[in-house]
Amino acid sequence: MTSHPTPPPTAPRIAVFGSANMDLVAYVPTAPRLGETVTGSAFRTVPGGKGANQAVAAARAGGAVTMIGAVGADAFGPQLRTSLAESGVDTSGLRTCDEASGIAHIVVDGQGSNSIIVVPGANGTVTGLSAGDEQRLAATDLLLLQLEIPLPGVLAAARAARAHGVRVVLTPAPAQPLPAEILAATDLLVPNEHEAAALTGRSDPAEAAAELLTTVPEVVVTLGAAGSLYATRGAEPVYVPARKVTAEDTTAAGDTFVGALAVAAGEGRTMPAALAWASAASALSVQRRGASAAMPHREEIDASTA
Ligand code: ATP
Repeated sequence: MTSHPTPPPTAPRIAVFGSANMDLVAYVPTAPRLGETVTGSAFRTVPGGKGANQAVAAARAGGAVTMIGAVGADAFGPQLRTSLAESGVDTSGLRTCDEASGIAHIVVDGQGSNSIIVVPGANGTVTGLSAGDEQRLAATDLLLLQLEIPLPGVLAAARAARAHGVRVVLTPAPAQPLPAEILAATDLLVPNEHEAAALTGRSDPAEAAAELLTTVPEVVVTLGAAGSLYATRGAEPVYVPARKVTAEDTTAAGDTFVGALAVAAGEGRTMPAALAWASAASALSVQRRGASAAMPHREEIDASTA
């Protein structure tokens, strides 16, 4: 286990309201068809979920992070909690409920293609905020949201954050139609290019961003190895290139990017500078295997940008 320094009192305070899943990954030569049994070559359990991944990314990047959500009263619940705590995330807002912990059941075949079943379980109970959750939100600078919990929960958290003057950052993933009220309560929307296209029907990221700016004041579209684009009202969009690296595994590149972006923005960097720092963080993560395990710590990000 890596030790994590307590964040300094000046660290940006970041709340994540979202999902925690255990990924159950089975490796097989050929994926089973319906009714078929195959013998796999390996099996791993990996803590994941977009909420938990963004929390780990932000904590490792130097944020003072609190995770709000739910896990089950099963064997995975304590493992998910411990994995967050090991990266320095405060898990006092992570409820234990009667549902099973959320899981993603992943089958990876010999070609590296995968099929995935997600069972939300406890994440499906995150439909609103307790009084304690609201206090946690009020005590932060920035809220990170994704769409792996029910939309009423996302909306309640966004509105509560707004009411307390907390900046709301939404990753609209997995892609789905978004109620206008959620966009109206969002300060910064961070889709990847596919999500931006799904939300607007426009495949050109700059055009998609321009359309999204009619409802959200700031937009960052991530473009994989092509970098990212920052757009705000009344200014030309700014492209920030990705770092040229050999990618080993791009899983959770987007969550690493958002977690680091939240820290950099919370520290008061300009948005183009924050995007550049987040790009450096995600470039480090794609050079290593795994999701949260591949996420870099602050010293590494700073060293790579020095
Ligand atoms: P995921 O779903 O895998 O988490 P995503 O689709 O949400 O990813 P991407 O747009 O693929 O997010 O990547 C986010 C950021 O990570 C990019 O803007 C870029 O800075 C960085 N990145 C992604 N892929 C690469 C790569 N191959 N080389 C360097 N940087 C990369």
